[in-house]
Amino acid sequence: MYKKFLTPALVLVALLTLLAVLGIRAMEISPTFSLAQETETEGEEKDEKMGEEKRVYLTFDDGPSTVVTGKILDVLKKEDVKATFFIVSDRVYNREATLRRIAAEGHTLGVHSATHEYNQIYASDESLLKDVATCENVIARVTGIKPKVYRFPGGGKLKERARQTKLLEELGYRVVGWNAVCGDEEIKNASSERLVKETVKTSEGKSTVILLLHDSATHRATAEALPEIISYYRERGYRFCQY
Ligand SMILES: [Zn+2]
Repeated sequence: MYKKFLTPALVLVALLTLLAVLGIRAMEISPTFSLAQETETEGEEKDEKMGEEKRVYLTFDDGPSTVVTGKILDVLKKEDVKATFFIVSDRVYNREATLRRIAAEGHTLGVHSATHEYNQIYASDESLLKDVATCENVIARVTGIKPKVYRFPGGGKLKERARQTKLLEELGYRVVGWNAVCGDEEIKNASSERLVKETVKTSEGKSTVILLLHDSATHRATAEALPEIISYYRERGYRFCQY
């Protein structure tokens, strides 16, 4: 009698145990899946809502130079990245081919200055506009392009900047500043590693980065740092933009 009941009871216990184990497993698996999906959807919605696209503008001031500009253009070509070059037109003489190469490879040419002599440029509104016109004319004569962007040498005079920006906008210019630096002017004799570090430090937390770099003759380290600077932004999902 006892034996007769034992077998069905054991079968029942075994069945219940099996169901319980399957149930627990199902509970363990399903929330994990749904959580993962929710997290993904939430992320997508957030990006769409904020319309946030990470963008970086690589901007090179004070060129063209014979060696450094060429090296920078080589890197940009290899990496398939377009940039903006703010030109000092007194440095174009004998480097016309470099200026034409910048344009031919699809980069933007902007006006920076004719002389880069602050005292001369900022003596008056007239002298500023004359400086801009001279640079504009050289770029147009050599490349056939009329530049549409401008950057104040040294960032401009704080008290005059707003008014002078208006003057330049009336001439059809978009005036461009910067919000991150590689440090190639600020840090004396910086190594390429140091320039990458400074780029990272000043770019962190910014969804739009306008990075200030220089391509004049003393900035070989900038050209050396450029591949790593590009990788830094690329790995973080930034889109490379030009003006
Ligand atoms: Zn400059």
